[in-house]
Amino acid sequence: MKPQILNRLGEMTASAAQKALDLAMPPHCPVTREEISSSAALGPRAWSAAHFIEAPFCARCGVPFAAEYGEGVECPSCIAEPPDFSRARAALVYNDASHGMIVGFKHGDRTELADMFGRWMARAGADIFTSSSVLAPVPLHPGRLRARRFNQSALLARSVAKETGLQVSLDGLIRRRATPPQKDLSAEGRKRNVSGAFGVRHEEAKARFKDAHVVLVDDVLTTGATLSAAARALKRAGAAQVDALVLARVVKGGIGAI
Ligand SMILES: [Zn+2]
Repeated sequence: MKPQILNRLGEMTASAAQKALDLAMPPHCPVTREEISSSAALGPRAWSAAHFIEAPFCARCGVPFAAEYGEGVECPSCIAEPPDFSRARAALVYNDASHGMIVGFKHGDRTELADMFGRWMARAGADIFTSSSVLAPVPLHPGRLRARRFNQSALLARSVAKETGLQVSLDGLIRRRATPPQKDLSAEGRKRNVSGAFGVRHEEAKARFKDAHVVLVDDVLTTGATLSAAARALKRAGAAQVDALVLARVVKGGIGAI
């Protein structure tokens, strides 16, 4: 049989197998649990609850503004206490819908969502990328990586790289010590918790980050403490500029922030 025909047959078999699987175990939306037709998509209710971030936003941290204040305007928290990264961009506001997506992604083995998130993040980060930017996922400590089996930030970074063609350093930035979850800590506690937690592993990674524009990749930006600590480690390793790209960010405060 000709190879094209074999390929075509292979595709048909794969799609028939997927259809059979969908019938036996219909895919569910990771947010609302409603049945959906494709395992890579969200249900209509989750789509309508997802809040994509669009301009205008703070030129530095990317927090959305309710009105246009002009080019380069920063929010009060960035002016009062600038983060250690230069700019951050996020695809979504962190709300019930994006929380559900991230939980589904992190704990529910819905790793196929990474492609969709990668597309959204590539769009959100379009104004910070250069053709030579290096993507660097925020690492997990090896102990936590073993427990969780995958680093969601690394999956996101790989998807953004696939979408943009940018290079990615999956293991150059490391977590030198395990830190308790940031979840229940105050802003000050979060800063202390992650201070000095990151480093750059080896000479090869140092060479890669030296004088480079590095874009840190993570799932959620809350206070920015983790991204700031990671940015400091990259700058110590010689990075020229460190920006950040996340799937979702918490939105509070800011000039008329929504
Ligand atoms: Zn800001």
